[in-house]
Amino acid sequence: MITSAVRTLATELTGDDLPAYVYDLPALRAHARAVRDALPPGLELYYAAKANPAPPVLRTLAPHVTGYEVASGGEVEHVRAAVPRAPLAFGGPGKTEGELRRALTLGVERFHVESEQELRLLAGAAKDAGLDAVDVLLRVNVPLASDELGGAALAMGGRPSPFGLDPEAVQRCLPLLSGAGSHGPLRLRGIHAHLASGLDAPAQLTVAAAIADWARKLSERHGLDDLTEVNVGGGMGVDYAHPDRRFDWAAYGKGMADLALRHPGRTLRIEPGRALTVYCGWYVTEVLDIKHSGGEAFAVLRGGTHHIRTPATKQHDQPFQVLPMDTTATWTRPWARPAVREEPVTLVGQLCTPKDVLARRVQVPELRAGDRVAFAMAGAYAWNISHHDFLMHPRPGFHYLDT
Ligand SMILES: *Cc1c(COP(=O)(O)O)cnc(C)c1O
Repeated sequence: MITSAVRTLATELTGDDLPAYVYDLPALRAHARAVRDALPPGLELYYAAKANPAPPVLRTLAPHVTGYEVASGGEVEHVRAAVPRAPLAFGGPGKTEGELRRALTLGVERFHVESEQELRLLAGAAKDAGLDAVDVLLRVNVPLASDELGGAALAMGGRPSPFGLDPEAVQRCLPLLSGAGSHGPLRLRGIHAHLASGLDAPAQLTVAAAIADWARKLSERHGLDDLTEVNVGGGMGVDYAHPDRRFDWAAYGKGMADLALRHPGRTLRIEPGRALTVYCGWYVTEVLDIKHSGGEAFAVLRGGTHHIRTPATKQHDQPFQVLPMDTTATWTRPWARPAVREEPVTLVGQLCTPKDVLARRVQVPELRAGDRVAFAMAGAYAWNISHHDFLMHPRPGFHYLDT
């Protein structure tokens, strides 16, 4: 359900102020606090900044997270500037030597190393910088039994993958890491894995247990006493078809507390993105036109998938709420206001491509030109994954509500 603060702004903005992204920061704060409270105290919560790196979002999360997972040199700079004291974990494939050097200069706290070459580049950069204890987690494609993941939307564990290291490659990395018999500048602090996204709490717990067990076996086999951290990744599921069905953080927290008991002396860490910020953002716009074609109703909206690419990439209907606007006093045109009633309607944007669809054949009681539409679940992987310049329409407004 739309929050009253968002609804008020969404109806007060003029048509020319739309489309607009409206973020409800108190709602984000309450959600982040509830997530944190559901987790065992010793579990570290990092936010994956790529889900939504807007500075007000990063700052609102700061009191509730341990740190931030960043995945490029750009994110390292950006998140360091927005929340200067927060620990950063630098992951992502294809880190350049320049990015690694800059991250060392900025004192990035953890490096998630994705390949042997990257480990060698980082070791060289650390040596040049005169550093002797750079903390590394190796990102590993921990093998999972095929039935362990069930219906994962994006299964990555144990399959050919451009991300991370296969278990055999981990063996070859160990001689390059201190705490594993050598005395280089890099210290193996832990194992990182991000195997799937869109998982519910029971599936996430199964994956977390598999990663923690794998890390323990590695550490026991090689006597890796410094290997005290296990980052089990993000990917906590959200349900775009049912915005009110949220990831079961209470069950997850309980399961992670049990897992921590089975792994004494190890710090467990998670790094969700989407499930933290998706609910706090709304993409608000207005209906420009309503028409019928081939017997189906279409509502043409101001804006489109160049602002919110999520429904196009995920092939789903973006959930929305209609905010009816009374235009009896202001509809000055000498023709009737275009409208549909009690009919399925397809919501499209202003782009000249059939892919510019935000929701398909959704039943609405009524939708008229001039009504507002507020798309929910637009707080993650929405604006920042979209192709803003396509067709040169104006950019949306951005409103960070915080009262
Ligand atoms: C994208 C990503 C995340 C966050 O995933 P969500 O599905 O947004 O929770 C966490 N870790 C890594 C390595 C990622 O690439």
